[in-house]
Amino acid sequence: MLLIGSHVSYKNETQLLGSVKEALSYKSNCFMFYTGAPQNTQRGKIDDELTYRAYELMKENGIDLENIICHAPYIVNLANDLDSEKYEFAINFLTNELRRCDQLGIKYLVLHPGSHMKIEKNHAIYNIVKGLNIALSTSSNTVVLLETMAGKGTELGTNICELKEIINNIDDKNRIGVCLDTCHLNDSGIDISYFDEYLNEFDKEIGIDKIKCVHVNDSKNPLGSHKDRHENIGYGTIGFDSLIGVIYNKKLENVPKILETPYVNREYPPYNQEIEMIRSKTFNPNLYQDILDYYRK
Ligand code: FE
Ligand code: FE
Ligand code: ZN
Repeated sequence: MLLIGSHVSYKNETQLLGSVKEALSYKSNCFMFYTGAPQNTQRGKIDDELTYRAYELMKENGIDLENIICHAPYIVNLANDLDSEKYEFAINFLTNELRRCDQLGIKYLVLHPGSHMKIEKNHAIYNIVKGLNIALSTSSNTVVLLETMAGKGTELGTNICELKEIINNIDDKNRIGVCLDTCHLNDSGIDISYFDEYLNEFDKEIGIDKIKCVHVNDSKNPLGSHKDRHENIGYGTIGFDSLIGVIYNKKLENVPKILETPYVNREYPPYNQEIEMIRSKTFNPNLYQDILDYYRK
């Protein structure tokens, strides 16, 4: 079965229950959320009653808890330890985030591996490994998914080699996986129209079973641009057919596909209409107008 959904909001008042409702409004059967604002690390208490009601609603609508993904905030940077206080904060925050996921019953947490800034690459990778091993050993279940990055600035995790290096050094291999992001892959220099070649290479080096989530985004920028700016499905440089090829790839059949595409006019979520295009495998040349009509009616 196609697992398709989007990034949804998580508000302190409604928590997971609000996220499930938003996902259902887009006709999703999986989704991704942040436990607070993606840009900061302020986090509220989890209300188990709201979680329980979210589970009930998911059950009624056939959403499996295993297909709900959490994303750690962007500012957690495990790569750089120049400021030891900041480095320790990042490890502590990640540990607490993993415990929050445990409490919510969430199995997967997506993490940007980090940016090395001014320090040497190998040392930065060592920092990531060390931080992950500490955070994983002091939380119980949740699996960290390293996201493939575009290579903006000094980002790490921009190629299979760097991801492999991190994964090989994680103590508990059952607690580590990968989240592919099609926009990031494109911007890092991977041509999505030859996606099977990439998957074969990934399988040889890391193992395809490590891929537990795919972020499906088109890109505003050309192949290898190292930019990381997402575009709506079929409206960017990757194009509709190549993205459909990823979404329906047999080898990733049971992996949740999550849209992180931009809102129209920064106001209207495109997910309902994009999911419709994806389910029907038919590009909608009037996507923006349809979204505006849908929300203004
Ligand atoms: Fe991400
Ligand atoms: Fe992403
Ligand atoms: Zn991105």
